[in-house]
Amino acid sequence: MNSPEGTASNTGMMLVISAPSGTGKSTLIRRLTAEFKAFAFSVSCTTRAPRPGEVDGREYHFLTREEFEERRENAFFAEWAEVHGNLYGTPRQATLDLLGAGRDVIFDIDVQGARQLKASMGQGCYVFIFPPSREVLERRLTGRGTDSAEVVARRLAAARGEIMDSHWFDHWIVNDDLQLAYDQLRAVYVAEKTRPEYQQAWREGLGRQWGGR
Ligand code: ADP
Ligand code: 5GP
Repeated sequence: MNSPEGTASNTGMMLVISAPSGTGKSTLIRRLTAEFKAFAFSVSCTTRAPRPGEVDGREYHFLTREEFEERRENAFFAEWAEVHGNLYGTPRQATLDLLGAGRDVIFDIDVQGARQLKASMGQGCYVFIFPPSREVLERRLTGRGTDSAEVVARRLAAARGEIMDSHWFDHWIVNDDLQLAYDQLRAVYVAEKTRPEYQQAWREGLGRQWGGR
């Protein structure tokens, strides 16, 4: 049986996850990458300060604004955006290297960035996660305990715009019951991996066994 893990001659898949901050993307991504160990997480660059427990090079590459702008001018990013007052960007070459090595790459980026990534990379599966309601989102943002009341208010205001711009995504998942949301995300990933473009090794084998393509 084909496993959804990359092999040397397979092309990796981009799984791009967007959601208003506090919806539960990180929670869902952690579960998916714990189950599918072959996944690589796309480590973005950001100008925001590290939160307690965050490690430079693991969650993000933490940069000064000057460092970020210099990289941006040198076309270092496949996409970049200003989110909640900070700059965030996806390193282009690191992404290409991982995909070229057959690794599936998971992205946690905002809606504007996801749209740019789709245009600049021309591939990938784009998933938008909704919070079940505004009240629940506020509770999760506050309950996480990592952001001030002012930051929480700013993130809630931004959520509206992100939800209004979610129509173009390939899949919509509502993160109410965590297990159901996880099952849906997992199903999207596993099903997406059955596309022929991600099964180069199998396709080559077909040519050898059956001739033709
Ligand atoms: P994001 O990465 O989207 O900003 P997090 O994954 O940090 O969000 O989740 C925000 C908070 O909500 C965390 O405290 C997390 O444990 C909690 N959470 C996530 N999903 C659910 C869910 N389905 N039900 C209840 N709480 C959840
Ligand atoms: P946080 O500061 O909570 O880690 O992330 C804030 C927002 O920035 C989230 O919506 C997250 O998805 C987004 N984000 C993280 N990395 C990137 C990136 O490289 N590009 C873009 N456009 N957004 C990002």
